[in-house]
Amino acid sequence: MRSIQEELLKICHALLNHFGPRNWWPAETKFEVIVGAILTQFVAWRNVEQAISALKQNNLLSPKAIYEAEDSIIEEMIRPTRFYKQKRERLKEFCGVLVKKYDGDLNRFLNQDVKSLRKELLSIKGIGPETADSIMLYAGEKPVFVVDAYTRRIFHRLGYFKPNIDYNSMQEFFVKHLPRDVELYNEYHALIDALGNKVCKKVPVCKECPLTNSCKFYENN
Ligand code: SF4
Repeated sequence: MRSIQEELLKICHALLNHFGPRNWWPAETKFEVIVGAILTQFVAWRNVEQAISALKQNNLLSPKAIYEAEDSIIEEMIRPTRFYKQKRERLKEFCGVLVKKYDGDLNRFLNQDVKSLRKELLSIKGIGPETADSIMLYAGEKPVFVVDAYTRRIFHRLGYFKPNIDYNSMQEFFVKHLPRDVELYNEYHALIDALGNKVCKKVPVCKECPLTNSCKFYENN
C-alpha cells in the first residue's frame, strides 16, 4: 500500500504532467510578488496585472512610493482589482511597516525566521494566513505550504479532507506528509490552483482531470 507521501507526490506529478510547470509567482521582483498577493483576493489575475502595470508606469511600485502617495492616486491605479479602497489600505499598511520599521528594506524584512515573519505579517491589518503564507513562500522563499479554498475543495473530493476543514489543519496535513522543500511547495500550490481554476471547479469537469484514478468523488459519481 502506498504511503500518503507517495500518494501526494503522485498527485503532484500527474498535475505537473497535465499542466506543465506553472513558473509561479508571475512577477519581476519580490515586492511585486507581495503587491500581487495583497491585490489578488476575489479577483482574476489579469485584473491584478493591470493594476501592477499601472503602478509601474507611474513609478509607484516601491514601498516608499506607495506609502507616500495620496490614497486617491493608489486607488486609481488599483481600481481594476475591486474592493480597491480596502486593498489600498492593506498596501499602505504593509508599506508603512516596511518603511518605518525596516527603512524600506524588503530583504531585511523577509530575512526573519519563519515564525517571526509569519507573526509580523499576520499583525498587519488585512493580511490573513493565505496572503501571509503566499508572501513567505513566493517572495521569502521559505518552506511554507500555502493552502486555499481550491485545496479544500479538491482534497475533499479526492477523499483526504472533511468539507469544512480549517486552514491550519489543511496546511499541517501537507507539511506532515511532504518533504520540506521550497520548490515542491511552490509548484504544488500553483498546480492545485490550476486544477481548481480550470477543471475541479464548483461543478467539476472530471473528463478533463488527470486525477480520476485517485478521486473518491469520481469513483462515487
Ligand atoms: S476527478 Fe473530478 S472531482 Fe476529482 S479532482 Fe478531478 S475534477 Fe475534481
